[in-house]
Amino acid sequence: MTYNTQPIASHFIDGKYVEDKAGEPIPVIYPATGEVIATVYSATPAIIDQALAAAKRAGKEWAAMTGTQRGRVLRRAADIMRMRNHDLSVLETYDTGKPYQETSVADATSGADALEYFGGLAGAITGEHIQLGDDFVYTRREPLGVCVGIGAWNYPTQIASWKGAPALACGNTMVFKPSETTPLCALKVAEILHEAGAPAGVYNVIQGYGAVGASLITDTRVAKVSLTGSVPTGRKVYAAAAEGIRHVTMELGGKSPLVIFDDANLENAVSGAILGNFYSSGQVCSNGTRVFVQKGIKEAFLARLSERLKGVKMGDPQDPDVNFGPMVSERQRDIVEGFIAKGKAEGARLITGGNRVDGQGYFLEPTVFADVTDDMTIAREEIFGPVLSVLDFDTEEEVIARANETKFGLAAGVFTSDLTRAHRVVAGFDAGTCYINTYNLAPVEAPFGGSKQSGVGRENSKAAIEHYTQIKGVYVAMGDVEAPF
Ligand code: NAD
Repeated sequence: MTYNTQPIASHFIDGKYVEDKAGEPIPVIYPATGEVIATVYSATPAIIDQALAAAKRAGKEWAAMTGTQRGRVLRRAADIMRMRNHDLSVLETYDTGKPYQETSVADATSGADALEYFGGLAGAITGEHIQLGDDFVYTRREPLGVCVGIGAWNYPTQIASWKGAPALACGNTMVFKPSETTPLCALKVAEILHEAGAPAGVYNVIQGYGAVGASLITDTRVAKVSLTGSVPTGRKVYAAAAEGIRHVTMELGGKSPLVIFDDANLENAVSGAILGNFYSSGQVCSNGTRVFVQKGIKEAFLARLSERLKGVKMGDPQDPDVNFGPMVSERQRDIVEGFIAKGKAEGARLITGGNRVDGQGYFLEPTVFADVTDDMTIAREEIFGPVLSVLDFDTEEEVIARANETKFGLAAGVFTSDLTRAHRVVAGFDAGTCYINTYNLAPVEAPFGGSKQSGVGRENSKAAIEHYTQIKGVYVAMGDVEAPF
């Protein structure tokens, strides 16, 4: 291997790399080969304290800068990130196993978009003026303070940036803990922000398993926690944050419906289903894994989908021609295989795939099941792998009810050429992020997040500003004070 994947040190605190080998070692495994490509060390209590102390101290100076000054730092970081897109994408591919064909257009680029967008907004974060006769109230939109970010493993650069950019734009500081499965990329985000001029301590990264995340949340210096992860972890993090009445953003799991009507453009619907199930080898929270296909188009849909899946090219994810990578870990492959076995056992019809790929790495074939019913495990639980379930339906009313019959509410999509039906169906979805005639796009300008158990709060767009600031109302009296006695 010519690329050096071993970071300078495990943590980035107070503007520099910091090592402490007293922590538990975390091996970083390249999912395409199973090879250990780096080792980092879980944060010890001393490291956790150092990071929080740095973030707390840095907050004063950072919040005192004007929004435009903070924004300039973020926009400079965006430029650096774009300039280094190739190297960052190679690293993202080592960290996650996602093909370079994807990482080169979806990870550092998306991180840079967030830095640029929130950098641009930073100067426009303002309060309001409320006139009350001669008196008036003005509001100050103030930062929350030290924010903790906790990431999942599927989009390590993107998650570190999507949380960091709005937090910093609003004048907060951050301690970010990446997933233990993909610890490398967030360090680069910290390095770049520092290089772009973020004062030491404004954005820190520390490594660790869940316990490190847990001890961050309950520290009295912390004002907010933003988690991207599974629902069970979300429940724990939310509860821990509640103990100190801390602000939260929860970006959690999903089991999203993708509804395809008879009148849909077949080719686009198949493309949407592919994007919503097989991009990143299916390891995307918003995936439309319950594909409801109206009976009249079902056979044509299955035939065309099977045909298009012949275009899958597995192999070394660093090869730009490869478009399908491995599962992130052996554990994740085992979990997904377990779901495939359940699908077969519960009577779903396997159309294609279903097997692991022999040889090195954690590859699994893209898998399609048809004749899936609402009660089957593969239609109810989040799989987080390349498994698409096709469910049949007859009517619009029926499909909306069935689409909503889940504890999750992250995303939902509809393909139809009937304009009014498209909007009606979307209005009926219990989901935070919806699509009409496309699927899984997540531009920074649009809010992203879930309803029901899929989450609380929104990332991206102007909505994120609400979740990284608090309002102070200031009443100003212009006359004498009246009192009863
Ligand atoms: P996970 O819940 O296992 O872990 C997420 C993070 O939480 C990790 O960094 C982990 O170390 C940390 N953690 C675990 N226990 C903790 C605790 N008690 N306190 C604090 N932190 C703790 O999730 P994962 O397996 O890394 O990621 C996959 C999940 O993430 C899926 O459910 C997926 O849908 C979800 N996800 C959601 C989004 C979204 O934006 N909605 C995006 C990507 C992934």
